[in-house]
Amino acid sequence: MPIVTTNMAKVSINLATGSIQKEELIVGIDLGTTNSLVAFINPDKNPQVINDTGKGVLVPSVVHFGPPNGGDITVGNEAKEYLITDPQNTVFSIKRLLGRSYKDIENYKDFFSYKVIDDDSESLVKIKVGDKFYTPIELSSLILKELKARAEHALKTPVNRAVITVPAYFNDSQRQATRDAGKLAGLDVLRIVNEPTAASLAYGIGLNPEETKTIAVYDLGGGTFDVSILQIQNGIFEVLSTNGNTFLGGDDFDRAIVDYWIEKNELNKADILADTKLAQKLRLKAEETKKAFAHQGMVNDKIGDIWCTITRTAFEELILPKVEETITCCKNALRDAKLDISQIDEVIMVGGSTRTALVKRMVAEFFGRPVHDELNPDEVVALGAAIQADILAGNRKDILLLDVTPLSLGIETMGGLMDVIIPRNSKVPTKAGRQYTTSIDGQVNMKIAVYQGERDLIKENRKLAEFDLKGIPAMPAGFPKVDINFLLNADGILKIQAIELRSGVKQEVEVKPTYGITDDQVEQMLMDSITHAKDDVSQRMLIEARTEGEQMVYTVERFVEKNGNFLSVTETAETAKYLATLKAALTGGNKDLIHKAIDELNEFTRPFAERLMDEAISVAMKGKSVG
Ligand code: ADP
Ligand code: MG
Repeated sequence: MPIVTTNMAKVSINLATGSIQKEELIVGIDLGTTNSLVAFINPDKNPQVINDTGKGVLVPSVVHFGPPNGGDITVGNEAKEYLITDPQNTVFSIKRLLGRSYKDIENYKDFFSYKVIDDDSESLVKIKVGDKFYTPIELSSLILKELKARAEHALKTPVNRAVITVPAYFNDSQRQATRDAGKLAGLDVLRIVNEPTAASLAYGIGLNPEETKTIAVYDLGGGTFDVSILQIQNGIFEVLSTNGNTFLGGDDFDRAIVDYWIEKNELNKADILADTKLAQKLRLKAEETKKAFAHQGMVNDKIGDIWCTITRTAFEELILPKVEETITCCKNALRDAKLDISQIDEVIMVGGSTRTALVKRMVAEFFGRPVHDELNPDEVVALGAAIQADILAGNRKDILLLDVTPLSLGIETMGGLMDVIIPRNSKVPTKAGRQYTTSIDGQVNMKIAVYQGERDLIKENRKLAEFDLKGIPAMPAGFPKVDINFLLNADGILKIQAIELRSGVKQEVEVKPTYGITDDQVEQMLMDSITHAKDDVSQRMLIEARTEGEQMVYTVERFVEKNGNFLSVTETAETAKYLATLKAALTGGNKDLIHKAIDELNEFTRPFAERLMDEAISVAMKGKSVG
């Protein structure tokens, strides 16, 4: 028997009044690296972007923390102004950090003008503004809150439910972080949808369950480029391949124009860039110029004594190598999808930078067909998200709603947290998995407890099964690789498999999540998760901070134990002091204090490891030297 979805998708809670609301609208949100926006289905049943009076449609994805104490938070256009005047307190490109560890981003850390905390670890990054710590989830939630507020203001109704889009190449952790950001903003995130899928829906592609199509979605935004090849069959979108460059976009076009002006005016680039206000003026003029090429062949302007003159032909020559690079990515995507250009049925243009004529020409030429550019390329993803939301709301009877899991399925992780493996509303059959490791040296057993529900703490969710993965060979903490895979079949049977990859130790169980639970109970669980969303997320963040702190204490104590003789008396004493501060913070309920203590202990102990390494190298060298 397939999992019953009932009509629960239509029940929701009005967070403002606490009352139950039926038939509430669900918005679609494009949470972008450069710009974000929100769309809904209007009474004429057409998707429409929300334009809150006078504020425009696009909300720049920028957050500024102003005095006193960073408490005066602005988001969007207003925050963007501070990028120049107050860069340390202005956070942009947050999407690049979502669900990322420091290790993931260390190669491009110079890109950020604000402080990204360098834990030199595998835990998720944090951002420090003033003396406060923020996770990318919290920062993204501020943008989502702004979008929610604008939608509520424009539509004059509470907005509590949303579909949010992410790039097709986002991994599990980045998707989960996006969900959490929504939750923290007070939104019930019904589904995370791939941006290329949303763009296709906006063009009506994939809405007919009968059609089978292969499409290419070319997305060139402000700072990122990606191309996805999708296959649509029976109303199901499958990503065949993705390719791109996360540091290529319209910003590069602007920079190329500025460099051209600097050269033509015989100026010194370093001098110009050092004058941040002037550099910013030039950059804005360059962006304006680039956009003007849509309807004129030449721009002739002046900033102070600097001539800002350029023809469209010269501009196209400047950006040609960048555009060629995107075409190479398209080739690679086709190769990975094992497809020939002739097998692509449609090409869709997404992202503000695809308005550039040269880009359109070259993409159309490469694919050998006209591209879809009828819709506004910076709105198309949000419009598609609104259509997906409408489908989930059950407002499109013509569209087959596939069987979906009514509640999320996941396992317990450190600190009693729920780690979702299959999010609710996933269509069945589905499979998903994630890799875990041990937290203690020599750990040979791992308890795997499986839960169902939407709350962040497992104790609020429903337990489905528990078993031990036994016989993991003794290894240092963090070494074993335990894959946990969930397979939910069309009959609603969940198969859970745990396997330690280094040794091959394996264990499997089967449960039926719908067994013994009524639709009313499912509905109640969903409602509870909405009412408790904010508390849940802050609790989770506290627990995560504690877990990280405890791991840190464990590591540092072990280090001192093993290498104590290697530290000076003062260093040992200082380390003990920082450890004591961290331990004290761990007993309290303030996650900022814990992060601060972790950060300080880290700063202090980092040189030790480096010194130990140098020492080891010099010992090794000595051993090798001949007399
Ligand atoms: P993201 O998806 O990364 O948030 P967007 O899709 O909003 O980004 O694209 C932003 C980029 O689009 C910026 O570099 C902007 O300058 C560029 N852009 C916007 N309008 C035009 C235009 N008319 N011509 C060329 N580029 C444009
Ligand atoms: Mg985008």
